[in-house]
Amino acid sequence: MTTTTTTTPHLTAMGRKLMTAIGENGQGAPTLSFFDGGIVEDSGSWMSVLSAELSGEGSVAKTATGVANVLKKLDADGFVAIDSPDENGEQWVRLTKLGADTANQLVQPTPTDEQRAAALAAETVVIEKATKRRGAAKTGNPKTDEKVNAAKAAKSAKSSAKPTAKTDEPDKSKLPALPEGYVVRYPHKSYDLCSTLKGQGKIKWGTRCNAHGTFTEAEGGRDGDTKGTAAVRPTWCKGCAKDAK
Ligand SMILES: [Zn+2]
Repeated sequence: MTTTTTTTPHLTAMGRKLMTAIGENGQGAPTLSFFDGGIVEDSGSWMSVLSAELSGEGSVAKTATGVANVLKKLDADGFVAIDSPDENGEQWVRLTKLGADTANQLVQPTPTDEQRAAALAAETVVIEKATKRRGAAKTGNPKTDEKVNAAKAAKSAKSSAKPTAKTDEPDKSKLPALPEGYVVRYPHKSYDLCSTLKGQGKIKWGTRCNAHGTFTEAEGGRDGDTKGTAAVRPTWCKGCAKDAK
C-alpha cells in the first residue's frame, strides 16, 4: 500500500524554504524568537515576528508580507495553524504535527561549525578593538603596538575558540520562575513580555523585570510592553523604583 503519498500536502518551494528555516531553528543556536518548546507540535511564534524574522534578501521572502503569504499557504495545507487575531490584532502561528515533523525532516543534525566560526570572528574583532584602545593609550607608538597586539589577540582568540554567548543578553537563568502558566513571549533585554499559552482559556499577559525578577500582570501585549519600559517599570518594580532614586 503506497497510496498514502498522494494525500501528503505539497510543499511549495517557498514553503519548503520556510519550513527548513523553522527546522534549522531546532538545531544549534536558535535564530527565531519563540518556538519555546522546540520544533514540536503546537510550538510557534507570532505572525508579525515570524514574518519579520524570515524576510529580507536571501531569506524566505523579501518582504514580511511575502512571508505571511507563504504562512497562509502552509496554513491551508495543514503544516501550520494560524489563530484568529487576538485583542491586539496579533496572530499566533503554531506548528501542526505534520508541520513539526516536516520541519525536522527537512534538516539534518548538522554540525554548527559555521556558527562557531562566525562567533569566533565576532569575538576576534571585539578583542582587537579593545587591544587597540589599550595599546593606543599606553605607548607613544600606538601604531606598532596596535599591529602586534591585534595579531596576538587574533591568535589567542583562535586558540581559545570558546563558544560565545551573546554578551548583551542578560543572564535570566537566575531569575525566579514566572507565575504558573506563563511563558516568555517577547524577550527583551530589560524586560520580558510574558503570557499564558493559547488553548488554556483567555490569554493572560504579564511583564517581568529582568533586572529584579519581579512580575506584574498586564491588560494585553501592548500594555505589557508599556509596563516594561524604563519609564513605567518603577511604578510596579520596587527594585527599579529604588534604582531610579
Ligand atoms: Zn526592576
